[in-house]
Amino acid sequence: MFSKEEIIKILSSNDDSILKTADEIRKQYVGDSIHLRGLIEFSNYCNRTCYYCGLRYENKNNQRYRLSPDEIIESAKLGKKLGLKTIVLQSGEDHYYSTDILCKIIEEIKKLDVAITLSIGEKTYNEYKAYKDAGADRYLLRIETTDKELYKKLHPNMSIDNRLECLHNLKSLGYETGTGCLVGLPEQTIESLADDILFFKEIDADMIGIGPFIPHPNTPLGNSNINLNKNFDLSIKVMALTRILLKDINIPATTAMETLNPNGQIIALQSGANVIMPNITNDECKDKYNIYPHKKNQIISDTINKIHSINRTVSNEKGFRNKTS
Ligand code: SF4
Repeated sequence: MFSKEEIIKILSSNDDSILKTADEIRKQYVGDSIHLRGLIEFSNYCNRTCYYCGLRYENKNNQRYRLSPDEIIESAKLGKKLGLKTIVLQSGEDHYYSTDILCKIIEEIKKLDVAITLSIGEKTYNEYKAYKDAGADRYLLRIETTDKELYKKLHPNMSIDNRLECLHNLKSLGYETGTGCLVGLPEQTIESLADDILFFKEIDADMIGIGPFIPHPNTPLGNSNINLNKNFDLSIKVMALTRILLKDINIPATTAMETLNPNGQIIALQSGANVIMPNITNDECKDKYNIYPHKKNQIISDTINKIHSINRTVSNEKGFRNKTS
């Protein structure tokens, strides 16, 4: 277990030997198989205004879409046909879909014998419970930053305490719970990234998604003077440290990493990651889910080729966390 000071030292140095250590731990604890999670981005409407996100409702330049329940279920069936064992339903915080509608969608998809992950934002305990009872297995809710001041600045009308309570509720309901952070935000310090990593350990997250910050031109952070290469390198290091601290969890090689570096996912897979989330949303919509610009959407065949190119295999399992301690 690293102390906060040790984490800060590693993140601040040019030494990247921890990437190799993370890769060895990944191999030892979760093996060479990579879990593919089929991502359906079913609505890009959002009633929040997070400063870094292209889906914020104040971005009037975004062409909005919503998939109907039938379209969502059809996309999941396609994912099943393609051999995917997990379907991820992701959207902005969109109140259009009632709890009843979402539960019906979950129940239908569950009949396909796949694991279901939800990534639909902050909800009440009872809503989370209803989705769980309908068959949802996992939930992703990134904290984005544990720095309270920064969180407040970037998330108007939101509260970090409520976000923490949501994570607590998800865990208490028995979801495999995922969180994560953005790396390289303006005003974000190395100290706060160290706190983020220790927070992942403290809540014993089952999945962690790390995203390098990429400024979106139609957001308040659009003109941020950011060194994207530095953000990429730092996000890989944050991810590797997370693997070292949480040895048996699932960690995706994120699309944002691939967007910043043409080899980004391979580097991530060789630095602790063991999951990829190919996008199975229909072509017309997936380009409109632009949280950040130039998002690289993953196509399954390319993803599989990439996995084989580094002598890894595609998992045949649903890929739940196999807790070792
Ligand atoms: S980060 Fe999530 S909640 Fe915030 S604006 Fe984007 S989609 Fe909405």
